Amino acid sequence: MLILYVRYLAGRPVDEIRCIAQTRRRHRCTSPVLAPEACGGRWILMPVAAEVGQLALPAEAMAVYHLAALSYAEQLRWRSQRCPQHAATPTAADLAMADWERFDPLLHSEHIHARLPTLRRRGGPADHPHRGMRA
Ligand SMILES: [Zn+2]
Repeated sequence: MLILYVRYLAGRPVDEIRCIAQTRRRHRCTSPVLAPEACGGRWILMPVAAEVGQLALPAEAMAVYHLAALSYAEQLRWRSQRCPQHAATPTAADLAMADWERFDPLLHSEHIHARLPTLRRRGGPADHPHRGMRA
């Protein structure tokens, strides 16, 4: 996941990242951060070794879920891990920690995928090409 030029590893697949805000009923919000009405990012390939210099790494390129086409506000929303409704409600408390980790190519090598997730045609059950893959 690339947010504001920093690579993070999400705690779960992109389409399963849930809003961390507390609802009025004091439960954690169940809305996804990848809201159906908002446009998400897209998968790109970028060099694994961008931050590690000359180390030999298992793959040279890796798939990264890239949010750079989104507005600054939308990228902040992703980083704060909130759905669009709660991004607009700053008074709602967070019920959980955002589960981003700074991506480390050595520690997280099992999450390095040299290929983009397979793109499928719209309308099918696999409409979300990023399903199941942590970014
Ligand atoms: Zn929410």
